[in-house]
Amino acid sequence: MTDEDGDSDDFETRAIHAGWEPDPQTGAIMPPIYATSTFAQDAPGEDRGYEYSRTGNPTRMALEENLASLEGGEHGRAFASGMAAINTVLNLLSAGDHVVVGRDVYGGTHRLFTDVYEDYDLEFSFVDATDPDAVAAAITEETELVWAETPTNPLLEIVDIERVAVVAHDGDALLAVDNTFATPYLQQPLEFGADIVAHSLTKYLGGHSDIVGGALITDDAELDERLGFYQNSVGATPDPFACFLVLRGTKTLPVRMDRHSENARELAEWLDEHSAVETVHYPGLESHPGHEVAAAQMDDFGGMLSVEFDAPLEAVRRFVSETDIFTLAESLGGVESLIEHPATMTHGAVPAEERRKTGITDGLVRLSVGLEAVGDLRTDLADTLEKTIEI
Ligand code: PLP
Repeated sequence: MTDEDGDSDDFETRAIHAGWEPDPQTGAIMPPIYATSTFAQDAPGEDRGYEYSRTGNPTRMALEENLASLEGGEHGRAFASGMAAINTVLNLLSAGDHVVVGRDVYGGTHRLFTDVYEDYDLEFSFVDATDPDAVAAAITEETELVWAETPTNPLLEIVDIERVAVVAHDGDALLAVDNTFATPYLQQPLEFGADIVAHSLTKYLGGHSDIVGGALITDDAELDERLGFYQNSVGATPDPFACFLVLRGTKTLPVRMDRHSENARELAEWLDEHSAVETVHYPGLESHPGHEVAAAQMDDFGGMLSVEFDAPLEAVRRFVSETDIFTLAESLGGVESLIEHPATMTHGAVPAEERRKTGITDGLVRLSVGLEAVGDLRTDLADTLEKTIEI
């Protein structure tokens, strides 16, 4: 159903249409890439909605509206990377403030918090956010923010957004959820009480491994204004070409996520039965400790999974290096399948002792399951396991 503004209740329609109407002047179906740094003014201070591209750009605006609509939020802000988006949330804080962080987060997020912001006198407590009581216990008078990913990177743990939102709000703190792994097609954290949703657009939203970008979405106009102030003042904004590519990506997000989820589920079930595999972390498996919460807050379980092998580090390194279709690379969420070794790649920045406490072992391998024929993906993993880990 669409209303008079052309907005639809249906995600698939909004993915394609939200944020852009065919150009009234030319009829262009896709938003032009407004490659301009500045905009003519009719009189000093009288612009036509745009003054300077760091502050605002029509291609970026189309993307920001599209992303806000997909997350079911009122306001969207796009950034030059996921890290720039996350950094902007921390800009809301002041020296002396305290943040409670889910302990399993992207290694770069961990690095930003501890190696950058601890020097600015922010304090971070890393806790098991799958346990809302552990989050509650860590909240102090100084806590201004709770930061969580769900599913988490790389262990695919599930945080109960609704319960953690209650705990954060009871402590007068904001809840920010990094929704990169799930995407708004599968999970909309604002609906469960989150105040800010963060994304690395580099992943599923872009979807084709050809841009780096980030976004923040909120329903709160005042919060959005503050985020906009830092977006413009710090200046880590995306160029219009990157915005155009993400807009192209979001149009096919629903069909891609359906196939990512289908392929990942099939591989997770197969790996779960494989003799060389110790544990499969995939929230779609009924044996996953977060399965019920995931089933309640997600529409499907996504394309990411991780697998633990009880094998020497050298064998695991050979396994991830020798797959044929799965490419050894950091990042995730593109159409192609990727494989990586978190302990030495994406989470190498997390100190070894903390990795151990979190459960990021040397035997852990992360898969970003792409859209290739799932039979080919299974054969690739089976053949490589036989050559490297099963011997
Ligand atoms: N959040 C998650 C869950 C990620 O996996 C990543 C990157 O891998 C980021 C944020 C950072 O995004 P970017 O690489 O676009 O800066």
